[in-house]
Amino acid sequence: MEIDGLVLRVTPYRDYDAMVLVINKKSSYSFLARGVRKVTSKNSFSIQPFTESHFDLLKTKDGLSLKTGVVLKAHEKVRSSYNGLLMFDFLSEVTSKFLVEKDFPKVYPSIKKIIELLETGFDHYTLAIIYLASILNASGYGWNIHSCQKCGQKDGIVALNTSSGGFICQNCFDGSNGAKLSPRLLKIIRYIFMVQPEMYDHISFEKEECLLILSLLEEFIVGTVEFNIKSLKLLQN
Ligand SMILES: [Zn+2]
Repeated sequence: MEIDGLVLRVTPYRDYDAMVLVINKKSSYSFLARGVRKVTSKNSFSIQPFTESHFDLLKTKDGLSLKTGVVLKAHEKVRSSYNGLLMFDFLSEVTSKFLVEKDFPKVYPSIKKIIELLETGFDHYTLAIIYLASILNASGYGWNIHSCQKCGQKDGIVALNTSSGGFICQNCFDGSNGAKLSPRLLKIIRYIFMVQPEMYDHISFEKEECLLILSLLEEFIVGTVEFNIKSLKLLQN
């Protein structure tokens, strides 16, 4: 069986092997890659984080196993940068926690675009908040960013409730049912929940703005979805 796909997760297994998870727009594939952690392995380049490769896989009784892997796009720059590897851990962890494997292709266009943009040096903080919002959408936890969650009014939004993930208008805001945010931050939040992959490079935000929004998203995720995202801590440094 031959597939083209993007490496999303690499888990060391036994001494020299790895379990590799690859996604493409149709499906996701987990396979055993034997010997790829030996320096002499010909296949090791094809299973590096974020690499897009052509894989020839063998169906065995224990599942899929890698015969040969040929690199299509190495994404060398992002893979050799610290921020790039942070983003790899982040994309990999967040996707694995929020979605079951059969749903991974849903976020493939988003991940592919993020990798392409990281390769060009685009701001990784902006891409991190965009990805977190898109994975919340994909898993049914998307925030209500179109109107006040209490009265449905579209104008006069002033605050965000991080336990329900919804906007609050000035008439409904009582000082304790949400965090008051600047119009600009509210606009950024609306943007990240709506933007499509082809527009990701439309605008990048200040680091401080992204970190604040990351902490709001984290508050919602820890409190409501009840996940802890380890890789988020490193991104927030
Ligand atoms: Zn209201």
